Amino acid sequence: MTINPLMPVYGRCEVAPVRGDGCYLYDAQGREWLDMASGIAVNCLGHGHPHLVAAIQKQAATLMHTSNLYKVPAQEHLAQRLVELTFADTVFFTNSGAEAIECAVKTAFSHHYAAGNPHKHRIITFSNAFHGRTLATISATDQEKLRKGFEPLPDWFKVVPFDDLAAAEAAIDDSVGAFMVEPIQGEGGIRPASPEFLKGLRALADAHGLLLILDEVQCGVARTGALFAHELYGITPDIMAIAKGIGGGFPVGACLATERAASGMVIGTHGSTYGGNPLAMAACEAVLDIVAEPAFLVQVREMGARLTQALEQMIPNHDDLFHSVRGAGLMLGLKLKSDSRAFVAHARSHGILAVAAGDNVVRLLPPLTIGEQQIRECVDRLSAAARSYQPAAAA
Ligand SMILES: *Cc1c(COP(=O)(O)O)cnc(C)c1O
Repeated sequence: MTINPLMPVYGRCEVAPVRGDGCYLYDAQGREWLDMASGIAVNCLGHGHPHLVAAIQKQAATLMHTSNLYKVPAQEHLAQRLVELTFADTVFFTNSGAEAIECAVKTAFSHHYAAGNPHKHRIITFSNAFHGRTLATISATDQEKLRKGFEPLPDWFKVVPFDDLAAAEAAIDDSVGAFMVEPIQGEGGIRPASPEFLKGLRALADAHGLLLILDEVQCGVARTGALFAHELYGITPDIMAIAKGIGGGFPVGACLATERAASGMVIGTHGSTYGGNPLAMAACEAVLDIVAEPAFLVQVREMGARLTQALEQMIPNHDDLFHSVRGAGLMLGLKLKSDSRAFVAHARSHGILAVAAGDNVVRLLPPLTIGEQQIRECVDRLSAAARSYQPAAAA
């Protein structure tokens, strides 16, 4: 047999962490990396945060899993808390981001079905979007690398250019029931939607009886310095998918909706064996205890501003390599003038983990608990990496 026992779908790098502490990861040989990736915006409290660890340990010893056949008091409590913190009236818990998107799509379809409009079975989405790796979620993007080999895919999505309100409006027809958009595209290259675009989508949705679905799987849960990114835009969605940061490293997601949007999600329309298990709920509660505090959000904005400023000061020293910084809070993209994947690989050898994204962007998604010292270290290590970098040779 020649196939790897691990299905070889990832081109994994050489880094093999076995332990984490705050913003740092360590391998079995004790090598250290500054973690500016956070498992792709997941470990929002860093590694080994005592409050999260204690909550998970306590709950693991008390009750990990029952079933959605029974009442799950921990689910009821967290749903109530999310409802109080957001636009939403109701919540479905999942185990991942893609599942939260699947639930959002089903919520939109079933809303129109329940309203006697079953033909409103299409959703307008946007170019370079990333909504996950399930069949429905790869159908929602035009990214060839995600779709290739799996077509024909369902015809449920109409993809139009991102941040182009006129294109979104032109795509509306009688088959369309919703828009689905990332307020700040993550995988696509930390591309924030313009305020006019998001506000415009909200207005178009209202004018045409459509639902607005926001994918805040990456940009939500305090990442931008607002609890949810749409707060920065002064709009609210009808449906929102979250995951990643909400569990702080424990796999969990959620689909939040208004009562009106969820009109079709009645008994029997959806389900999940693991979704909303008491252990996942304990992790989310512990994360929210910390990230939903106004003072914590202020700190995320401050650290985001400091990191942005430090990166902007670094750019002129390496202006053959670095182009610009964009994003919000601690969801930042450093745009390069050459391939970002090769530079991310080179930066690893300088003790820093970041994530490549579309449009030659290096994503910096540190733990939201990052301090000034780690910000200085981040920029020092990136500068050192830039000094010893030769794009062509490293690629
Ligand atoms: C990561 C991500 C998803 C998918 O989440 P999974 O947990 O990997 O299924 C969906 N949307 C966005 C914006 C993401 O960043």
